[in-house]
Amino acid sequence: MNNTNNTNNTNKTLVLDFDGVILDNPIASNIIIDNINNFVEIKLKNIPHKPIDINKDFFYTFGHTLLGLDAFFNIKVPLKEFNDFIYDDNTFKQVANIYENNNLNRVSQVKQLVDKYNYDVYIFSNASYKWIDFNLELLNLKNYFTHDKIITCDNHLINNNLIIKLQKKSYYIVEQIINNKNITFVEDNIVNLIEAPTYWDKYLISSNNNNNNHPDIKCINNLLYI
Ligand SMILES: [Mg+2]
Repeated sequence: MNNTNNTNNTNKTLVLDFDGVILDNPIASNIIIDNINNFVEIKLKNIPHKPIDINKDFFYTFGHTLLGLDAFFNIKVPLKEFNDFIYDDNTFKQVANIYENNNLNRVSQVKQLVDKYNYDVYIFSNASYKWIDFNLELLNLKNYFTHDKIITCDNHLINNNLIIKLQKKSYYIVEQIINNKNITFVEDNIVNLIEAPTYWDKYLISSNNNNNNHPDIKCINNLLYI
């Protein structure tokens, strides 16, 4: 890796979401979504509810299923119980089987970006650390993200605060962890960008570059447009 072309990014830290940004694998994402839907169904089995899209509502309103279960139904679930259910051994086996040549283009883009930012690149994800670590291995990206560059809800606990998008305080905790406020942030979920500090540089990665009614959020379909 060279660092001769980093003058424009000297003070910038790049923060990437994982699912939908680094991991561009809809089949894997759907397996996780199915698991979360099953988890919600089990937790709500004694409560009258409309199962349709309830988890989607949680995702876009609270950023994390557990926060939605707590706020809507007063059901409190430990994060470990949730992560153990969603990211169970069977899920890892299923995902490993559908990898093949998926995602190669996106992996190439990530490698180029890590080089461009001279390794000042972090992952900020609501997924479990185990999930990220497993996929980075399969994507041949493990050498690009050391443990300290991966911020998930279950591996960085500061003052007992979970770091979960879209809770506002989580973004400021991320700034403390990386010791920089000059951040370029890439997401595939616009609500996570909207809640980020206004002075962050925000990019929405999306296959359809729609106008998003948020002039401070730039739409891209290729990470190299950052
Ligand atoms: Mg995502």
